[in-house]
Amino acid sequence: MYQFNGQHVIVTGGTRGIGGGITEAFLKAGATVVATYSGNDEAARNFKEKHALYGDKLVLKKFNVANSGEVENFFKEYETLFPSLEVLVNNAGIRRDNIIASMNESEWDNVLDTNLKGTYNMTRFGVLAMMKNRYGRIVNMSSVGGKLGLQGQANYAASKAGQIALSLSVSKEVAKRNITINNVCPGFIETELIADLPEDQVKEYKSQVPMKRFGKVEEVAHAVLFFASREASYITGTNLDIAGGLNA
Ligand code: NAP
Repeated sequence: MYQFNGQHVIVTGGTRGIGGGITEAFLKAGATVVATYSGNDEAARNFKEKHALYGDKLVLKKFNVANSGEVENFFKEYETLFPSLEVLVNNAGIRRDNIIASMNESEWDNVLDTNLKGTYNMTRFGVLAMMKNRYGRIVNMSSVGGKLGLQGQANYAASKAGQIALSLSVSKEVAKRNITINNVCPGFIETELIADLPEDQVKEYKSQVPMKRFGKVEEVAHAVLFFASREASYITGTNLDIAGGLNA
């Protein structure tokens, strides 16, 4: 597996779900990880306790990725705590599903603000931190939904497609600085994000997946570590589906 000894990693939404799995994988690979979250203190506390053996190598920070002021303050503090930033994983995300005729403005805004504006906020400051050392790896957590679309997910799919477009543009801007930016596009992964799906819908979705099952967080984390590795040095502006064959 890839080694991240001496590297500093930020994982947004890194205390539970897919982000929790990514944080854990980086810790196991030797990195120091700042795992961020927005409000679920209990999940954050439990996550810290579960990974107590990593001591100061796991740092938790609470802020809203959609709020540019909070993101700026986070990066100001980050610079006082750590000498460099090698890896940024933009994983924080939410769903607020509704059919378009019923989707209200706050359902649209909340999803776009968290998923897309959050990625912009973090990438903007993250790139500045990485440019100092002329090295960096950014991995965005998009979704196959951003390429396939799903009923009731116009907001979510638009935010995830937006992340892909953002990465394509940024990849061209920062390539000369030795900074890469790529997307992983999971299909259905077993986390709380999709725990509210009705049983018949779960059955229907599983039947559409060629592997006939939902994915596990470890299966996504593995791909993130690949893109984040020093070895993935000539790969930028790409998307990798992790979807059991439900590829867009
Ligand atoms: P999850 O279990 O609901 O966890 C979401 C994480 O994001 C939590 O840590 C949450 O913090 C954080 N977060 C939410 N809003 C935030 C905000 N405004 N600012 C900062 N952090 C915020 O979700 P997940 O299933 O692990 O999904 C993670 C990512 O994968 C998302 O981008 C999602 O769109 C994407 N994805 C998931 C699936 C899937 O099937 N699960 C499929 C494709 C893509 P708190 O803990 O404080 O709430």
